[in-house]
Amino acid sequence: MTEPTAKKSMDEIMALCKRRGFIFQASEIYGGINGFWDYGPLGAQLKKNLKDAWWQDTVLTPPPGPDGKPVSMVGLDSCIIQNPKVWVASGHVGGFNDPMIDCRESKRRYRADHLWVLGVADAAQERFYAYVEGDDEGRDRALKLLGKYTKRQLTDADVVASPLAKHPASALTNTVGPDTKEVGTLTEPRAFNLMFKTYVGATASEEDVAYLRPETAQGIFLNFKNVTDTTRVKMPFGIAQMGKAFRNEVTPRNFTFRSREFEQMEIEFFCAPGTTNEWYAFWRDLRMRWWQSLGLASDNLVLREHDKDELAHYAKTGAGTSDVEYRFPFTYPGFGELEGIADRSDFDLKQHAQHSKTKLEWFDPEAKERYVPHVIEPSAGADRGVLALLCEAYTPDPARPSKVYMKFAPRLSPLKAGVFPLVAKDGMPEIAEKLYQELKPRFGAVEFDPKQTIGKRYARMDEAGCPFCFTIDSDTAKDQSVTVRERDTCAQERVALDKVSTYLAERILV
Ligand code: ATP
Repeated sequence: MTEPTAKKSMDEIMALCKRRGFIFQASEIYGGINGFWDYGPLGAQLKKNLKDAWWQDTVLTPPPGPDGKPVSMVGLDSCIIQNPKVWVASGHVGGFNDPMIDCRESKRRYRADHLWVLGVADAAQERFYAYVEGDDEGRDRALKLLGKYTKRQLTDADVVASPLAKHPASALTNTVGPDTKEVGTLTEPRAFNLMFKTYVGATASEEDVAYLRPETAQGIFLNFKNVTDTTRVKMPFGIAQMGKAFRNEVTPRNFTFRSREFEQMEIEFFCAPGTTNEWYAFWRDLRMRWWQSLGLASDNLVLREHDKDELAHYAKTGAGTSDVEYRFPFTYPGFGELEGIADRSDFDLKQHAQHSKTKLEWFDPEAKERYVPHVIEPSAGADRGVLALLCEAYTPDPARPSKVYMKFAPRLSPLKAGVFPLVAKDGMPEIAEKLYQELKPRFGAVEFDPKQTIGKRYARMDEAGCPFCFTIDSDTAKDQSVTVRERDTCAQERVALDKVSTYLAERILV
């Protein structure tokens, strides 16, 4: 097996995100709020570019299906708050629970499936030290405390780590929590509903309880009949929607990876019952290729087919479930989910038909038969997508003044071009501004910056991931050409002033 690409520093990536205005802590001036993040000017544009690419490539111009025919897709924008009965039918009110463990002493709360325990390999087990999966510092702390307890200098070879879920319940009394020093402070795992509750209307009574949607998918099932009644879609077809989803995550962490408010990009693809295997394979492979096409093409991206015992309740008997996973610095050398592709069978439509007493079926006029369509669901996270793009783009380069540049694919880059006068005199700013005004209406994300040394301006653009900078110098007035500097190689060449727009279009409008 080859060594994975070197691990990047999450702290440095987060520092750049803040410094350059990609991502800020929400409510920062009030001390923040755990699990919520705001996107700054560059981050908002990057996220919009990702969502636009998704809409363009999956809704408007999907490639032909397995039968070589065009794939039929339509869009939707449904409400965040729906009738609360929706979440009873979907199984979220009853079942959308993560087992959770509380620490009686530190008052911290952990997802049981995220806790690992460390014990000494060669001893009859007396004491275990828990840490949160992926938290390297927490693991080091556990190792240190275990060494102190056993009065031994422990190395990785002396210890065994295992998921707490595989740990006998009785062992919890011998376990020290991630944020305490004594045993026995952790509770047994308990169910915890992840949906945010709110009240609709003026009285905050129990009848007025409603929920913020924990996924966008259900809005699609609710509108199945509306869409088939009002459009010309024919089976098989997909409905796509992107938008906010909310989950009161027990342990929000890893920057935006596990947030309490996030955005999803989901497709429900409806097809005839006997055709799910081929559509599942089609969407699984297509979605993997899509993430690769955005530049996540290295060994940092994998497609992982779920084992049968991992499958969600609705997917037990279907074509399968797989995840597109990215190797984030905090999951390294492992991977974290970007998108799940699942065969949801006819579960959701049948549930809503039963609970709403509405027929949610398809009539096939040729075969003259009626059936409840089955569904393949590719469900992606926009925030995790942005985070993967940021991690992948982050490229340390000690030779540059910025020491780092962001290698975004031009299509996604939040800035497309910078236009600079070399110095703010001798007519250079005027020529630069004219060029800026020519490029701006065509390319939008173009920045004009007349201040600072040219090195500092290039450094800012490198950190923003701007692929091309055009500099007007003292020769421009004489030879009507400018210097273009390319972000990844720092190579410079001269381009005719009146060809800059074409030059840029050829390289970024791909
Ligand atoms: P996990 O196991 O990581 O909690 P999940 O399997 O519950 O994720 P899904 O319900 O399949 O996630 O949601 C689809 C997509 O929504 C995920 O692939 C992910 O990109 C995104 N997503 C889910 N939960 C979060 C979250 N808390 N923060 C950010 N994105 C999320």
